[in-house]
Amino acid sequence: MTRTAERTPGLRILLVEDMPLDAMLCEAELRRGGLAFSACRVQTRNAFEQALDGFEPTLIISDFTLPGFDGFTALAIARARAPETPFIFLSGTIGEERAVEAMKQGATDYVLKDHLGRLLPVVRRALQERTEHIALREAEDQRRTHEQKIAKLLRVRAVLGGINGAMVRIRDEDTLYQEACRIAVREGGFKSAWVGKLAPETLDLTIIARCGGHAEDAAWLHDASQIGGSLPDMVARSGKVAISNDLRCGQGLLTAPEHETRAYRSMAVLPLKPEDHVTGMIALYSGEEDFFDDEEVRLLEELAGNISFALAYMAKAAKLDYLAYYDALTGLANRKLFHDRLTQMIARAAAEATGIVVVIIDLQQFRRVIETLGTSAGDAILRQTARRLEGVSGDLGTAARLTADQFAIALPDSGRTGEGVYLRLEHVREIFEAPFEVDAETLRVQARTGVAVYPLDGPAADVLLANAEAALKAAKRSGESYAFYAPEMNARVAEMLRLENELRIAVREEQFILFYQPRISLATGARVGLEALIRWRHPRLGLVPPADFIPLLEETGLILDVGRWALKQAAADAVRWRALGGDPPSIGVNVSAIQLRQKGFVDDVMAAIAAGGGAPGSIEIELTESMLMSDVETNVRKLRDLRAAGIRIAIDDFGTGYSSLSYLVRLPIDTLKIDRAFVAPMCACPMHLAIVTTVISLARALDLRVVAEGVETQEQAKLLTLLRCEEAQGFLYSRPLPFEQVEAASSLASDEDRNA
Ligand code: C2E
Ligand code: MG
Ligand code: MG
Repeated sequence: MTRTAERTPGLRILLVEDMPLDAMLCEAELRRGGLAFSACRVQTRNAFEQALDGFEPTLIISDFTLPGFDGFTALAIARARAPETPFIFLSGTIGEERAVEAMKQGATDYVLKDHLGRLLPVVRRALQERTEHIALREAEDQRRTHEQKIAKLLRVRAVLGGINGAMVRIRDEDTLYQEACRIAVREGGFKSAWVGKLAPETLDLTIIARCGGHAEDAAWLHDASQIGGSLPDMVARSGKVAISNDLRCGQGLLTAPEHETRAYRSMAVLPLKPEDHVTGMIALYSGEEDFFDDEEVRLLEELAGNISFALAYMAKAAKLDYLAYYDALTGLANRKLFHDRLTQMIARAAAEATGIVVVIIDLQQFRRVIETLGTSAGDAILRQTARRLEGVSGDLGTAARLTADQFAIALPDSGRTGEGVYLRLEHVREIFEAPFEVDAETLRVQARTGVAVYPLDGPAADVLLANAEAALKAAKRSGESYAFYAPEMNARVAEMLRLENELRIAVREEQFILFYQPRISLATGARVGLEALIRWRHPRLGLVPPADFIPLLEETGLILDVGRWALKQAAADAVRWRALGGDPPSIGVNVSAIQLRQKGFVDDVMAAIAAGGGAPGSIEIELTESMLMSDVETNVRKLRDLRAAGIRIAIDDFGTGYSSLSYLVRLPIDTLKIDRAFVAPMCACPMHLAIVTTVISLARALDLRVVAEGVETQEQAKLLTLLRCEEAQGFLYSRPLPFEQVEAASSLASDEDRNA
């Protein structure tokens, strides 16, 4: 008879009692009190043990002394085998000492037989406690499962990140495969990984790289061509990721017992498709059953896609013939290579939702230069132009010589709306501002430019190039030094020029104002700080947000004046607050990379705070990760000096800058602010949740304060509290407000809380 068949539903009480009458009295007492249950009476050790399994009691009531068996032994057995089942002693005699001993050994309670009236309340309380205990354990189990799930995701992400990094470094296929296997095993914790290639016609599989696994694996992997019916077979035919979460069903190229001896429990196989058909696959074995679920599979699909892209690229790069792709005179790319590189930039921009500015530059009257000064002078100008273009294109852009006197440059733009075009174009124009040196003479060269931007002016390299050329023709016709393909872009650049003018006036006339947004302690709900956020009070347009003018301030260097003003104003406002009885521990002030880069940055900051009449301790400077990562040594020194003076340092928008952990450890900082981009989707997306969780534990490990930015919902706030994030900032608590309104707003928020 099986255990479940014997078990009756509802409350089950096991009575350990040798006297049938006592047992009956006990049952009657409980039923009289309205308790419904089924009962089972035992009096020997053997029967007791059988009942624990078969009857599966909800509660045990036991006598102390039985012939050939005793209550303490029963208690010890019950505690070992059914620790959650309450155990109550019901006995005629029980001395004080034995009662204490019984409780020590884990008994729930005891009742004397001549006080039977106490039994029902004792039983009820024991059952109540049991229910609560089980609920608590289940919640704990759930939490543990969730944690394991996040740990697993982080591991798969580590593999994805590691292999993405390897693809940037590695230029040949075999090394890439070997490295991918190594990363999967060493960093991803997979038991074994291999890469196999498929023969085009027969679909025979040959293993070409592997890592981890069993010593004998090499032998059977040689024989891997027999893949019929297995996961690799499915991948070869469907071109899709295939998984098995229970390898006892075979399917993984090995027999089920072979999987068993190697402790391979789950397996995923990812297709490699550099073109439109499967040429190979990557297999990963995990030691955990049910390892791969939707989220992991999605990450693995992304990984397979990335590797496939790298393979396609390598195949092309192998065919690269230097002379066919480069201009011999200047060493720049020629039109064909420019086209290829632009295509790659477009793929990246499409994935990252950013833009590209494509500029074609035409040297004016170049033929006249050659006629009067000779070819070697012409060559010198072309070479110097090429060097200057390379300086502007940097690592992320690309420059080319298209024809005798035409160049092209493609630059990444941070957004998709063409906002940044004006700034990019400034750099290109500067190229022709400085004179050229030709045979010890200085010479000015003028150029006209035609501009097209991705994605506004076209989705592909050839369209963008053709449109930039059309724009160049328009510039030549109108006699302007530049023209855009889209007419509204011409208007926009004119608008930017006007804006720059207005900004100069704004700086002179101090048309800026600081708004403040409170930072809240998640534990107490109290306001623990403020962040100063600048606004421009434009005479015509009203309040302009920082994103619309900070880039231009930085470009023109005006940010230095405005940055000083913001620090001074924040320091002065801190003093005003204190005078009003408010006591913000610190006001966060955002600082631009341009400010940080100044030699006298530290003195500048101190002077601005002093000019506002404030104390350094009232200011926390907010810097972004990426601005600290260039020239780390110098920045570390500057930050140390600031901290020595009492100023606090926060890293803003943390998580977006990919800073390496080793740098982070060295930076003298106090606070990490988790970027809104991770906080906003965190409740719906386990990946973002995993990142937020990691940043919080990272902050704790480094003993940093951690602030979540952009908290908009109660759900986010709750989750952050659970994750033990200390502080939060966001619209949920308050929007940024002018100085005069901040006090009022915080009392308003607490009124709302009270009403809610
Ligand atoms: P930040 O320092 O990361 O500031 C947070 C931004 O998120 C602010 O935008 C704030 O209004 C917004 N925000 C706060 N809570 C929420 C929320 O719950 N939901 C949403 N959707 N947004 C929220 P703002 O004021 O437009 O400032 C944008 C950026 O401009 C700042 O980002 C900072 O990098 C820069 N900035 C602001 N003031 C200054 C300044 O004085 N100097 C410099 N150099 N940069 C500044
Ligand atoms: Mg900030
Ligand atoms: Mg931020």
